[in-house]
Amino acid sequence: MFGPQTLHRLPELIGRRRATGRPQVDISFPEVEKFDHLPPPRVEAASAFVSIMEGCSKYCTFCVVPYTRGEEVSRRFEDVLTEVADLADQGVKEITLLGQNVNAYRGRMGEASSMDSEIADFATLLEYLAEIPGLERIRFTTSHPKEMTRRLIDAYGRIPKLVSQLHLPVQSGSDRVLAAMKRGYTVLEYKSIVRRLRAIRPQLSLSSDFIVAFPGETDADFAQTMQLVDEVGFDGSFSFLYSPRPGTPAADFPDPVPPPTAQARLARLQDAIDAGYRAASARMLGNVERVLVTGRAVRSTDELAARTENNRVVNFSGDAGLIGRYADVRITAAQSHSLRGELVAH
Ligand code: SF4
Repeated sequence: MFGPQTLHRLPELIGRRRATGRPQVDISFPEVEKFDHLPPPRVEAASAFVSIMEGCSKYCTFCVVPYTRGEEVSRRFEDVLTEVADLADQGVKEITLLGQNVNAYRGRMGEASSMDSEIADFATLLEYLAEIPGLERIRFTTSHPKEMTRRLIDAYGRIPKLVSQLHLPVQSGSDRVLAAMKRGYTVLEYKSIVRRLRAIRPQLSLSSDFIVAFPGETDADFAQTMQLVDEVGFDGSFSFLYSPRPGTPAADFPDPVPPPTAQARLARLQDAIDAGYRAASARMLGNVERVLVTGRAVRSTDELAARTENNRVVNFSGDAGLIGRYADVRITAAQSHSLRGELVAH
């Protein structure tokens, strides 16, 4: 028997079980050791993904993550800085910080042995990471609206390396449904976060997650979700039909939404989300975008593929020597899932 914090000890537990023939139990909480056993950062050309925290302590009523992955645990502050500095030394220019609730990061600072050291919040971590030479862009996912503190919102004004793109799951536009989901914020609070972010970064590209047909969701609740999509203007989002997860509180909630109604709502929401994405792509036409060239294009190996600041793929003609570097590309066409462009400078 083992817990989410000792998953990495499984081979050792199996070995002991084989050697002794006795059941093995390890439900301890070795948080530093756990991060030592995380997979190494995933590096793709000049970008890398770095795990900085794991687990979730929010307990939304529909979600199994807190039960399967355990509570929020953050990596030590210096360990993250060292890893990202090493990556930058190897030529990585763009990092994506990862965590189930990445902006709930609270990492211990100072000596590893000290348990009374100061705690760095996510805004502090971003400030320090931004000082690493060679690193040009910082992304993170997935963030929780409850953790969008004033300090973190203000960081968008202080840290130009922080990209103007944010994935901030709202799940529903109805306060009644948000309360039943136990999300911990209201629609007004969510909109207030967006307003303050856009006051600092008017060009912010915002995407979200939505759950459609949560138990008890009425036509009026769903209309409020559609209204929120209209008001906020998301640049693409993920939307899912509610599906009960055994063991979660919502699995026992009454009033399931009939499947035909649920499907019709999902189709309407997805149409609105797609329209928002296409409109955002159309607004990029003619813009010169600073893109990170990630490799050859998937469909035509004569062309290069790159990522814009708002994480769209743009394909354009250029020399393979540009791979792993930033280039300026004018956007010439918007397709359904990618853009086309022409090289302006590099
Ligand atoms: S939905 Fe996200 S915030 Fe809510 S419990 Fe699951 S992982 Fe945590």
